[in-house]
Amino acid sequence: MQKYVLVLNCGSSSLKFAVIDPQSGEEVCKGLAERLGQEGASIKVKHGADAEESALPAPGTHVEALLYIEDALKRFGLQQALCAVGHRVVHGGEFFSASVRVDEDVRNKIAECIRLAPLHNPAHVIGIDAATKAFPDLPQAAVFDTAFHQRMPEKAYLYALPISLYQEHHIRRYGFHGTSFRYVSAQMPALLGKEKPKLIICHLGNGGSLAAIDGDHSVDTTMGLTPLEGIVHGTRTGDLDPAIPTLLIEQFGMSAEAVSDMLWKKSGLLGLSGISNDCRTLEEAMEKGDQAAIRALEVYCYRLAKHIAAQMVALGGCDALVFTGGIGENSPFVRQHTVEQLAFLGFALDSAKNQATMRGKEGNIASADSKPVWVVPTNEELLIARDTIDLCAEDKA
Ligand code: ADP
Repeated sequence: MQKYVLVLNCGSSSLKFAVIDPQSGEEVCKGLAERLGQEGASIKVKHGADAEESALPAPGTHVEALLYIEDALKRFGLQQALCAVGHRVVHGGEFFSASVRVDEDVRNKIAECIRLAPLHNPAHVIGIDAATKAFPDLPQAAVFDTAFHQRMPEKAYLYALPISLYQEHHIRRYGFHGTSFRYVSAQMPALLGKEKPKLIICHLGNGGSLAAIDGDHSVDTTMGLTPLEGIVHGTRTGDLDPAIPTLLIEQFGMSAEAVSDMLWKKSGLLGLSGISNDCRTLEEAMEKGDQAAIRALEVYCYRLAKHIAAQMVALGGCDALVFTGGIGENSPFVRQHTVEQLAFLGFALDSAKNQATMRGKEGNIASADSKPVWVVPTNEELLIARDTIDLCAEDKA
């Protein structure tokens, strides 16, 4: 019986995969290929209690990784049970406001969006082409991080730049993490006992963003043309004075490439602390009294609280604040220090509930007199698997 979806997340030199039952959400096999296209390309695969790690044959690209996955799935007796391939795609530009079946036209539009996401979309096109080679008989679908935000109003997505940049070159705010926002927001009507609630969802991972969600669509979000804008990230700046990059180039003699590397890879929690981009490591250092870690977390929570308040403007208030993502689901400290700065908006946490809600638990952590504050674990892979099966349903029978 064909029942599993192969979910692929292709990065420029890595490929994450999972074989998922879209009905139950069970992940029967998963893995990660790294250093693709470089020397020493390798792949790790987990299947039940078994784990294997292998070097990939030359030239060690996405194609070899997918051929390895195809062979591994055959060995595990899973290949016959695959019914479709679902791709996570970072940027769909203005082409895609929902997930789609992959065909030649879709593949070419994802390729056109490379100029908007030069770090991510090239790998998605390579992944689609490689999956077509490795699994020629399986239908494929693409699920976009940007799609959920495509109904944002013009006032939310325009930059105050010469309008020709938008009209001629599509330079505007797009937003990301749409798959996570969709997955989490879909659970909220049942949890809140309210149809079409107004939500502020904070997806806090290595990259983080917030969305203001009106029922089933986003009306504003904190990331923009790229995932650099918005709150403080693990290694990325978030918002900053746009004059800083040119100042670094003109006064410090830095190259544009070095500035970009600094903004994307050496800033955020890592840049502020000089210790780590990892929130857990910083919390451990903070507990030992490390001033640099305290400073980084202070800036992180303050900026986050400011952005939550700003997102409420888009909705004129909200029915609930929701935390998700690695930090949102697991850091009572970040939740507490952020929400205590939002008391004037009617939010307060129940300390015991906040401390107890982590590692995959879901719950309302607000105090009795507060507006609801929920922790809801996200599952982007499952949503990709479900969209894929819905879109490829006619090939399943
Ligand atoms: P990605 O954006 O790569 O998907 P995740 O959503 O997995 O990232 O989030 C990773 C972040 O979650 C890291 O900063 C990590 O330190 C943080 N995190 C995970 N567990 C905890 C914890 N128990 N306490 C604080 N932070 C945590």
